[in-house]
Amino acid sequence: MKILKTQVAIIGAGPSGLLLGQLLHNAGIATVIVERQTPDYVQQRIRAGVLEQGMVDLLRQAGVSQRMDAEGLVHGGFQLALGERQVHIDLHALTGGKTVMIYGQTEVTRDLMIARQNAGATTLYEAHNVVPHGMKSDEPFLTFEKDGETWRVDCDYIAGCDGFHGVARQSIPADSLKVFERVYPFGWLGILADTPPVHEELVYARHARGFALCSMRSPTRTRYYVQVPTEEKVEDWSDQRFWDELKARLPSALAERLVTGPSIEKSIAPLRSFVVEPMQYGRMFLVGDAAHIVPPTGAKGLNLAASDVSTLFNILLKVLRDGRTDLLEKYSEICLRRVWKAERFSWWMTSMLHTFEDSDAFSQRISESELEYFVDSEAGRKTIAENYVGLPYEAIE
Ligand SMILES: Cc1cc2nc3c(=O)[nH]c(=O)nc-3n(C[C@H](O)[C@H](O)[C@H](O)COP(=O)(O)OP(=O)(O)OC[C@H]3O[C@@H](n4cnc5c(N)ncnc54)[C@H](O)[C@@H]3O)c2cc1C
Repeated sequence: MKILKTQVAIIGAGPSGLLLGQLLHNAGIATVIVERQTPDYVQQRIRAGVLEQGMVDLLRQAGVSQRMDAEGLVHGGFQLALGERQVHIDLHALTGGKTVMIYGQTEVTRDLMIARQNAGATTLYEAHNVVPHGMKSDEPFLTFEKDGETWRVDCDYIAGCDGFHGVARQSIPADSLKVFERVYPFGWLGILADTPPVHEELVYARHARGFALCSMRSPTRTRYYVQVPTEEKVEDWSDQRFWDELKARLPSALAERLVTGPSIEKSIAPLRSFVVEPMQYGRMFLVGDAAHIVPPTGAKGLNLAASDVSTLFNILLKVLRDGRTDLLEKYSEICLRRVWKAERFSWWMTSMLHTFEDSDAFSQRISESELEYFVDSEAGRKTIAENYVGLPYEAIE
């Protein structure tokens, strides 16, 4: 058996694990990351693209922001399209100067991987059957198989950064966790294309045919989505069918401007709200998608992962440097306060912008009226903007 010793063993080399690893490494705290997949697989997963100010600041703090600052697109607002009507949500003006950064999760992951490699910190890819042990003891450890050998990593703390389907949450006895979940009766069919964006800002469209989102990764690469029923198959959607459907859901002025082209990637993502409480079990902490999922409508998934990372990093720093072990039990309650607010906003945006087949005519009019009330009132637009740019991180005292 191969045995390693470290201070913090991290399961998962997604954005949560890599960012936590980088912050801890920079602070002189030893980490080992174990990841089930290959580096190429991890890096190429096409997912989020809107970074809140808090995440941007955290990436800068981790020293991995050079490319983001050079190539990312700062957005001071977004568009809401309600049928033929277009409303500008001026994030900058409504929040006293806050903005979001458009920079793909693939790029964030790439920057973090390179930084970790340059730092010489250990990441073990293709680690199979990872199991956390002794979480309730003072000597937790991980075991796994890699290259035909059994490995063991002894550590002080375990960070479960292994996503929704990971092993960390599943290793906690079921009677120690409370699960909150809502599955939506639709998904998002998304395509990536090398075409110029239809608008310089993101466009969130509510339409009788269903929701649509015009997003982007750069001035020449777009990411567009349409709401589809859960049982829809991606093979049934030719590029032409996708473009036709997207155009049908946009205000005609935008539809006429839409530049189409061959898709580079096409996939369907289910929509789900999910939270597990508490987000820790003894010396193991759940971070990011391992503990919670939001539907992507509010662009919060990756950003929530970053705020968990910030909280855990600041707590571990105080624990390992100053012996503040009293903070350990505060991790979950601090994270959950922000998580639930983002869950609420993501659920609200989803409820307001999508069509629900099972909702009656009265409920539909109420939801249309609610959205119109919000966009027509400055207080309403402020509420949307304040949540969209991201609520503040809590200080760790
Ligand atoms: C299809 C899709 C589209 C999305 N779109 C958006 C979006 O538009 N906007 C948004 O804000 N968010 C979006 N999200 C959510 C966002 O991508 C996630 O919130 C983010 O990836 C969370 O990062 P994470 O590191 O916590 O988890 P992950 O990115 O899931 O990383 C977890 C890592 O752990 C590894 N792992 C899993 N199990 C094990 C194991 N047993 N042993 C070792 N390693 C393991 C995985 O291989 C993975 O590398 C999307 C998610 C998906 C799935």
